[in-house]
Amino acid sequence: MPQMNNEIKNEIKKRRTFAIISHPDAGKTTLTEKFLLYGGAINSAGSVKGKATSKHAVSDWMEIEKERGISVTSSVLQFNYDGYCINILDTPGHQDFSEDTYRTLMAADSAVMVIDASKGVEAQTRKLFKVCTMRHIPIFTFINKMDREAMDTFELLDDIEQELGIATCPVNWPIGSGKNFKGVYDRAEKEVELFSDTKKGTTQGEVRKVKFNDPEIAWLIEDSQRVQLEEEMELQDGAGAEFDQELVSRGELSPVFFGSALTNFGVETFLQHFLKMTSPPLPRIADKGEIDPMEEPDFSAFVFKIQGNMNKAHRDRIAFMRICSGEFEAGMEVYHMQGGRKVRLSQPQQMMASERKMIDKAYGGDIIGVFDPGIFSIGDTLTTSAERYAYEGIPTFAPEHFARVRQVDTMKRKQFIKGISQIAQEGAIQIFQEYNTGMEEIIVGVVGVLQFDVLKYRLENEYNVEIRMDSLPYEFIRWIENEDIDMAKLAGTSDMKKVKDLRGRPLLLFVNEWSIRMTQERNEGLALSEFGR
Ligand code: GDP
Repeated sequence: MPQMNNEIKNEIKKRRTFAIISHPDAGKTTLTEKFLLYGGAINSAGSVKGKATSKHAVSDWMEIEKERGISVTSSVLQFNYDGYCINILDTPGHQDFSEDTYRTLMAADSAVMVIDASKGVEAQTRKLFKVCTMRHIPIFTFINKMDREAMDTFELLDDIEQELGIATCPVNWPIGSGKNFKGVYDRAEKEVELFSDTKKGTTQGEVRKVKFNDPEIAWLIEDSQRVQLEEEMELQDGAGAEFDQELVSRGELSPVFFGSALTNFGVETFLQHFLKMTSPPLPRIADKGEIDPMEEPDFSAFVFKIQGNMNKAHRDRIAFMRICSGEFEAGMEVYHMQGGRKVRLSQPQQMMASERKMIDKAYGGDIIGVFDPGIFSIGDTLTTSAERYAYEGIPTFAPEHFARVRQVDTMKRKQFIKGISQIAQEGAIQIFQEYNTGMEEIIVGVVGVLQFDVLKYRLENEYNVEIRMDSLPYEFIRWIENEDIDMAKLAGTSDMKKVKDLRGRPLLLFVNEWSIRMTQERNEGLALSEFGR
């Protein structure tokens, strides 16, 4: 067995790979910008975002994102800080894209959740945040915008616990908010990090900390606020969960931090604590057992995202992969497990602040994008190991909304099919055909309705095809697991629809759960599944 090279091991140990997730406008972009500022990846915060007026960051690739001000795709940024090599995976900030967020979380070792202090967990993002807990990875909470009027601190924590079913442990505690925001109290150090609004600009700013028992505190924070803090701390110490690294690592306890990304307050404090509490690249589960990056010398990775047409000039398709072990070298030949043959990984790239750059090397924990000639699928494994193995797959979410889609100009049938198939291969939508009629009718299924808008927009802009969509009343989808099913004989309800997916697998669409039960009763031995694996 080949020996694990120490240099590679050290590189991997330095890696911290996390996803950042938030409701739109909670401040994810601003926080990411400040992180990059500390990493020296950019000279001034804001350069990530381009013009101050356009709500468009480096991580927002697509036109539609700029137009609607939402992030549709996820992207990756890498920077170095304090001896760490940090990979940030951005996620779309709307729950209609929670499946994409889930895939991105698969590539991360932890997640940072940004919450607007005046809003708490917002209804629109409940589902999005929930997928975080489904993955059982450490979740860190940054409660942002403390320079604005905030909700009560206990209420905010309670909100997170109730909505996500995860205990919280505030590492620091805010003193006031909005005009009365004085800073945060570090519970372990028993000191106050004083808020100052002078760091808004381009520099990293001075951090001023004063011990809570230092007499000077009386001049800095007025009596009523000090008394309130003492009372709140007493309550929290008595009733709140204690910090427990074990529970954090299991994703059962979320360390909470307060700050204000815009004024660059509490950002570095957060980063420093976070980097200590989160782990280097974790072992990953494959069919032959766990693959530990500290032991496996060979390169291995899995694809978690495919994104087409990121660059209009190139019409390229990029497969993003999480490297799980070993070292990657540009142009290297790897075995593609699902394709059953060797492939050369070409044009490897990473995102650095405002540009995509070609890379020569990458290590376990890193995320790279490689040119995909149309051979990769989400969940695929690549490795240089002589022993063949596959990482566990990434589940497909069951679509909940369906529509019949047609091209307006019948002469554009070919482009239409090409476009919609490619977009489906990326996993942005799922497509189905009626069981008997072949390619004529295409039914699109999505997890969130905004995905319909993205589909329409992309077909028009990238494939020059205008479409018509008629929504269908189905809300439930079930794959048929029986191998020998005779679809013609299958007796369902009158409002049920028989369709097949891209791979020809039969499935059923239902309007309600009652129909599912009826169909099951009418067909003995029928095995239905919610997941299309
Ligand atoms: P995203 O949609 O989560 O990426 O949010 P952005 O980072 O784009 O921030 C949304 C808006 O909130 C922008 O106008 C920011 O300037 C503003 N913002 C972000 N962080 C703060 C903060 O700490 N305080 C205040 N007052 N505004 C903030």
